[in-house]
Amino acid sequence: MAAEQRNPFKIVQGQIRQAVEALGLEPSVYEIMKQPLRFLEVAVPVKMDDGSVRVFQGYRSQHNDAVGPCKGGVRFHPDVYADEVKALSVWMTIKCAVLGLPYGGGKGGVACNPKELSKGELERLSRSYIRAISQIVGPEKDIPAPDVYTNAQIMAWMTDEYSQISQKNQFGIVTGKPIIIGGSLGRNEATARGCVITIREAAKKLGIEIRGARTVVQGFGNAGSIAAKLMHDMGAKVIAVNDTKGGAYNPNGMDPDALMKHKAETSSVVNFPGSTPISNRDLLALECEVLIPAALENQLTSENAADVKAKIVGEAANGPTTPEADETLFKNGVFVIPDVLANAGGVTVSYFEWVQNLMNFYWTEEEVNSKLERMMISAFNAVYEMHKRKNVKMRDAAYLVAVERVANAMRVRGWLG
Ligand code: GLU
Repeated sequence: MAAEQRNPFKIVQGQIRQAVEALGLEPSVYEIMKQPLRFLEVAVPVKMDDGSVRVFQGYRSQHNDAVGPCKGGVRFHPDVYADEVKALSVWMTIKCAVLGLPYGGGKGGVACNPKELSKGELERLSRSYIRAISQIVGPEKDIPAPDVYTNAQIMAWMTDEYSQISQKNQFGIVTGKPIIIGGSLGRNEATARGCVITIREAAKKLGIEIRGARTVVQGFGNAGSIAAKLMHDMGAKVIAVNDTKGGAYNPNGMDPDALMKHKAETSSVVNFPGSTPISNRDLLALECEVLIPAALENQLTSENAADVKAKIVGEAANGPTTPEADETLFKNGVFVIPDVLANAGGVTVSYFEWVQNLMNFYWTEEEVNSKLERMMISAFNAVYEMHKRKNVKMRDAAYLVAVERVANAMRVRGWLG
């Protein structure tokens, strides 16, 4: 058997090719979509606290802008590499198209370990990165946002640096900003909120009761921790969570607020009072109704997918499931809500934030949340209908919906000949 494909860029190229063929589209759709329209590699020099200069490797990928400017986060992580950033930008194109947002896909990253940087170094890195990519981004061209290990403060530094370069405030350059400089209410929780909405809709279709549903969350960052909290608020029982340092398991359920507090104090969920430690492998194999992978790519693989006992997998992370694992889960009747739908709440509220910036008129949290809810439900239903009609996985259905939309835009714009 061929080695399992774990290069996310190769994986997403396969997904696009499959959708183009299934839709009977012109081969040029694949030729255009199989790579980013533009990919920039930059050196990101940073003056360190000890006076030395370190040069980090940065990237920005603009996959496709047929339906609107590119949109997507910036990841600060030691393992960031070119093909990962490219794949993440393709996923953004698909995600925006599934939600019907007027955006194409973009993504950026810097290979660095933010946990080892001082606050000053992190600020200089954020400013240096946005300066390095400033020629190709902009409120009408490409709008960065938070992703793994980046947050509202980092977005604020980038907004300030870009505004200084352009000699005017440019709040529409970046989303996920602090509220005081044009951030949107509800943005911080949006990825998790959207994910939980799709899980709730899936549970309705499958006849699963959310109240009391045993929920397991892999990764306890922004998306994972808030998803745990929102599941708990809906009456689900959060029985296990983990982070890079280990896991916490309690079959009677744990309070996500208390878990967040414990993590803030000790930097990990490990040793949460009342819990027992659990390995990542055992956590993914727990008896439960809902499993939320909220960490990085390639977590569910051919090695562990057969052990998954969850009824619903809601992918809060990008690319957590390899194609081989996806097949296994499908065969075993696990309902997988794919990343490009399940975690699209983040970019959807980023869109709302950008609209508010352009209008200079701001919405209440209720307005944001109810618009998000409407859009997530309608995207879920579009994908679900395609899944039923074509008898394909939810992931394949999402790609069919998205690739068709992007192809239509490229066709009317005259890109396809
Ligand atoms: N990084 C998030 C994602 O992967 C959000 C992107 C955005 O808000 O532009 O969807």
